[in-house]
Amino acid sequence: MEVTNEMTCELVDHMGSDVTVVNAARRSMRVTKEEWSNAETGLVRSLIKNGHGSPFEFVTFMFDVDIPIFVAREVFRHRNSSFNEESARYKARRNKMWLPSSDEWRTQVGNAMSYEYKEWDGDKAFADTMLRNGYEDCIRVYNTLLERGVAREIARTIIPVGNYTSFLWKVDLRNLTNFLVLRNAPQAQYEIQKMAKKVEEAFQEVCPNIYSIWNEEGRPRLAAADE
Ligand SMILES: Cc1cc2nc3c(=O)[nH]c(=O)nc-3n(C[C@H](O)[C@H](O)[C@H](O)COP(=O)(O)OP(=O)(O)OC[C@H]3O[C@@H](n4cnc5c(N)ncnc54)[C@H](O)[C@@H]3O)c2cc1C
Repeated sequence: MEVTNEMTCELVDHMGSDVTVVNAARRSMRVTKEEWSNAETGLVRSLIKNGHGSPFEFVTFMFDVDIPIFVAREVFRHRNSSFNEESARYKARRNKMWLPSSDEWRTQVGNAMSYEYKEWDGDKAFADTMLRNGYEDCIRVYNTLLERGVAREIARTIIPVGNYTSFLWKVDLRNLTNFLVLRNAPQAQYEIQKMAKKVEEAFQEVCPNIYSIWNEEGRPRLAAADE
């Protein structure tokens, strides 16, 4: 069994850049620009302020992601995306399990919708051992069922959400900003925040000018119809 708290979210392909967005917007005037200038900065600022989201859909990102199932479930909620995930019917699960580092064990205080998370000061060695033992028990049952001839699609029901899964994720810039506003935010689960920080690095790398403007404009959800 491999245990880790590492998560992979690698930009493997993309289409478009800063000028792609302004050229999509300028199609209304049948104008195409090759280079970024101050006029482009003003245009993007105005697109953001006035809620013109569609030009941002012309830049797309493809990520290769390897994260625990409990984080993947949150990513999959972002419906304006495309996903292709490894199958637990066609391939046996990998014995790769998520285990928090010592400072990632936390406790939850407060009320629903306004919980706070604080570092847990309990017996971390004990908790660590409990989680490892639980994982090992699940893997043992899984492997035994497979050895006895049970189909992978049935045996997988014992696999816990700490097991890793991998998928390709394609998302456009408009919906990527929506993801960042919701998931690279203090109210999001810490583990998806970790992943979202890698997504944000990709945004900055592919569209550095738009990334700066979007931050200056207060990081709005370009995908939200009511903002
Ligand atoms: C902190 C946090 C806690 C959460 N807790 C829960 C929870 O307890 N339970 C739970 O089930 N989910 C929970 N979620 C998931 C959340 O409700 C959203 O499903 C998820 O964040 C995806 O956001 P989205 O719908 O904006 O994204 P997408 O599905 O990618 O949609 C992007 C945008 O497209 C538009 N859109 C998409 N589909 C429709 C539609 N059918 N009709 C109209 N407009 C549409 C909306 O403007 C939407 O913002 C939580 C999310 C966060 C960030």
